[in-house]
Amino acid sequence: MTPSFSSLSHRFFLALGGVLCLALLALVLVARYQIMPILLEDEEQYASSELDRIERGIGSELNHMRRLVEDWAFWDDTYDFVQGERPEYVDSNLYESTLETLDLDLMIFLDAHNQPSWVVGYNDDGDFTSCPGKASPCDWADTYIDFLQARLESDNEEPQTWLLAKPELAMAAMSSIYQSREESPSAGWLLMVRPLSTPWLEQLRDTTGIDLNLTSIAHDNDGARDHLERISANRMTASRAVEAMPDDQLILIDTLLPRQRYQASLETFRFALYWTIGVLVVTLLVVLWLLERIVLAPIRQFSHFTQRVHHDAIPPPMPATLLQRRDEIGTLAQEFRNLLDHQQQQSALLLELSQHDSLTGLANRRLFDERLEKAMHMAQASGHEVSALMIDIDHFKLYNDHYGHLAGDECLIALAECMSSHLGRQDYLVARTGGEEFSVLLPDTSLEAAIDHGEALRLAIQERALPHATSPTATSVTVSIGVASCHPSALNDPTALMKAADQALYEAKGQGRNRIQAQQANREESLDA
Ligand code: GH3
Ligand code: MG
Ligand code: MG
Repeated sequence: MTPSFSSLSHRFFLALGGVLCLALLALVLVARYQIMPILLEDEEQYASSELDRIERGIGSELNHMRRLVEDWAFWDDTYDFVQGERPEYVDSNLYESTLETLDLDLMIFLDAHNQPSWVVGYNDDGDFTSCPGKASPCDWADTYIDFLQARLESDNEEPQTWLLAKPELAMAAMSSIYQSREESPSAGWLLMVRPLSTPWLEQLRDTTGIDLNLTSIAHDNDGARDHLERISANRMTASRAVEAMPDDQLILIDTLLPRQRYQASLETFRFALYWTIGVLVVTLLVVLWLLERIVLAPIRQFSHFTQRVHHDAIPPPMPATLLQRRDEIGTLAQEFRNLLDHQQQQSALLLELSQHDSLTGLANRRLFDERLEKAMHMAQASGHEVSALMIDIDHFKLYNDHYGHLAGDECLIALAECMSSHLGRQDYLVARTGGEEFSVLLPDTSLEAAIDHGEALRLAIQERALPHATSPTATSVTVSIGVASCHPSALNDPTALMKAADQALYEAKGQGRNRIQAQQANREESLDA
């Protein structure tokens, strides 16, 4: 395969390779700027929904507490107690095991004026205290009482729940104290506080199935938004700050979440991507293969054929596989073959024209010289004699002058026909080598035989009796003939033979015309006919 053949397939290969690279680049860009953001956004939604679940878990705990605080606040005994009517209430209800059973840290009863009427709970050291109002040893609960009072000043009387960030992480629920049956005004408030203890957190982790932690943080502007950080390929942290008391604090829900969902999507996407790339590459290879089979291979065959036409002496036939095709390549091959045939015909015609005389149709000097040289070579090989006649029309100028140039031409044609019919043998060559001068090449012919042929021709022309009114020699057109012959072993130069024939012709002219004169080319002797 020459480089010029391979270049077309190289160019296709490069072009299709370029297309493949562009397609791969487009896939990578789509993956980077379209698919990946969607996967990451999906992961953020997942994290947000997990945080929602935790919030709902905390919310349902707060609902439990709300129901608990309402149970107590709508109890007639409690109603009586905050109004100071049932002193035994403390002894019969507010003892240590009550708090333990209810999983509470603190209960505060406020009267109708929002002043504490009883406080029961565990102080900072974990000691159980139970006392009326802000008195020692319950003064540790003052902070809670202050929160509560501040809240009551601003808010309505609906039962409320909220998270506490200070002094410890806790859930709080409060309700107005009412009589259960009769419609009467609120007698005060009951607040319950449940700590967000380690066991409670453990339980929340179990119910949600999420690895989470709660901490208190200071309130800032960013607080409300979810925060996500991908710490590794398989894990991420997601956090959300939720409202808590006091107002300058928030509770931060911190979670450690798995990234399987993202990884699975990524895996699926990669799988699809690899398949797409694979299909793309296979498609391009198939396209290249089809191109090679349908276009490149026939073009290569065609090109190979044209090169052989150019270089080979005998052009090969056009491959049938190309000619039988019904597509553009087939048309090209057929047209090319037609063109080639036409060109070969033209060349043959041109060769014919270049070797023959247009007036008489005889061979011209060029062909005569070629054949003479060949004959000499062959004679050298065979050792046979080569002879030549040089024929000149006598007084042809006078003929032209008298009958005109056109008649002169007709006379030339008539004499040419006469010579052809007498010496038109296969291996003899009659040529018009000058205006009214002819030469005959007689290979394998002795001088004697050549003289016989020449004499026969001269007589035939004389008998033809073409009238020549102004000829001093005869009444009809006559010719003078010089004959020469040579032994190739003794003479290699073809021009010497023709010189000898010319010499003989000159002698024939000089001796009165209408005669034949002979000369042996390699011997300086002349013979009279
Ligand atoms: P000689 O016997 O000595 O050969 O006398 P000649 O008149 O034949 O010889 P010369 O060389 O003086 O004249 C040759 C003439 O042949 C001159 C020219 O007009 C004529 N001639 C040469 N070629 C052509 C041709 O193609 N057609 C015609 N009609 N005449 C030609
Ligand atoms: Mg002449
Ligand atoms: Mg003449």
